[in-house]
Amino acid sequence: MTIKQETYRLSLVIPVYNEQESLSELINTLKRELSKLREYHPYEIIFINDGSNDQTLQKLKSIKDPLIKIVSFRRNLGKATALNIGFERATGEIIATMDGDLQDGPENLLPLLSKLNDGFDLVIGWKKKRHDSLLGKNIPSKAFNFLVRLISQTPLHDFNSGLKVMKKKVAREIFLYGELHRFIPVLAYQRGFKVAEIPVIHHSRKYGKSKYGNLSRGLRGAFDFLTVMFLHSFGERPLHLFGFLGGIGILLGMIFAIYLSILRFQGETIGNRPLLILAILLLITGLQMLLSGLIAEMLVNQRSFSDRNFPIDYES
Ligand code: UDP
Ligand code: MG
Repeated sequence: MTIKQETYRLSLVIPVYNEQESLSELINTLKRELSKLREYHPYEIIFINDGSNDQTLQKLKSIKDPLIKIVSFRRNLGKATALNIGFERATGEIIATMDGDLQDGPENLLPLLSKLNDGFDLVIGWKKKRHDSLLGKNIPSKAFNFLVRLISQTPLHDFNSGLKVMKKKVAREIFLYGELHRFIPVLAYQRGFKVAEIPVIHHSRKYGKSKYGNLSRGLRGAFDFLTVMFLHSFGERPLHLFGFLGGIGILLGMIFAIYLSILRFQGETIGNRPLLILAILLLITGLQMLLSGLIAEMLVNQRSFSDRNFPIDYES
C-alpha cells in the first residue's frame, strides 16, 4: 500500500486568527511564489483556524483547492497550539511556518529554503528592519530577543519571527503549547539541531490588528521561557535543583538553630529572637523544597521509555 500523504516535499503551516481580510491576497501571493519553487513541488498549505470569530473559516472553506488543507479549532487556543497541530498534520519532508497576516513576505521562502539546504535543520527569518510600532513591539521585542539569546546561548537575533523552515524531524520532536511558539529555535537548539537565520523582508500589517504585544502576553512569555530553561537544565534530574536549594535552606536553618540552642543552654532567652523565626522558616521551606524535588523525580521516573524523546541523529 502506498501512503499518498508522504509524497509532499513541502508543508506550509499557517495559523490564522481573525485574518479574513488578508486571506485571498495571501493565498494568491503564496501560490505565485510557490510555483517558482519547482523542486519543492508537490506542496501543501495547512491553515489552522485558531477559533476565529470573523469570516476566516468561511473564506478558507470557499477556496476549493486540493493543495490547501484546513484544521479549525472551535475556540482560540493560541498560536503555539495551532502550530503544533499543524506540525502533527504536516506530511512534507520540509515544514515551513508563516504568519497569516501578510507581514512575512512569501518571497522570503526561497532564500530560507536554500539556507536549509546548506546543512541546517532549522532556519528562521530575522526581521532586521521591523515594521511594527516602536514602543508596543520593536523595543520590547529587542529586549526579549537579547535576554533569550543571553540566557539560552542560542546564536540568533530574532526568536519570534513567524517565518521558519525546518526539517520534518525538528517539527516532530518539539512539543508546543502556551506561548512556546516563541521558543521554537531555542527548543530545537537545545535538542542539538543546527539552527541558522537569514535577514528577511518584513511588511507592516495591512489588515486587521496584532494579537500580541500587550503586557500579559509578555508575562506569560517570561513564564514559558522559565519552563523552557528549567526543562532543558533539570527536566531529567529535578532533584539536582530542588535538592540543592532545599539543602542550602536546611543547612542554614540548622546552623542558626544550633547557634540559638547554644545560647539557650548558656542561659539566654531566645524566644524573642527574629533569628529563631528565620531558622524555622529555612528548615521548613528547605524540607519542602527537597520533598518537591523527590516528587518531581517520581514524575520523571514514571515516564515510560516510549514517552521519552531521545535526540537520536544516526543509527545503523
Ligand atoms: N494567531 C493565532 N492565534 C492567536 C494569535 C495569533 O493563530 O491566538 C496568528 C495570527 O493570525 C497570525 C500569527 O498568529 O497569523 C501572528 O499573529 P500577529 O500578527 O497578531 O502577531 P505579531 O505579528 O503582531 O507578533
Ligand atoms: Mg503579525
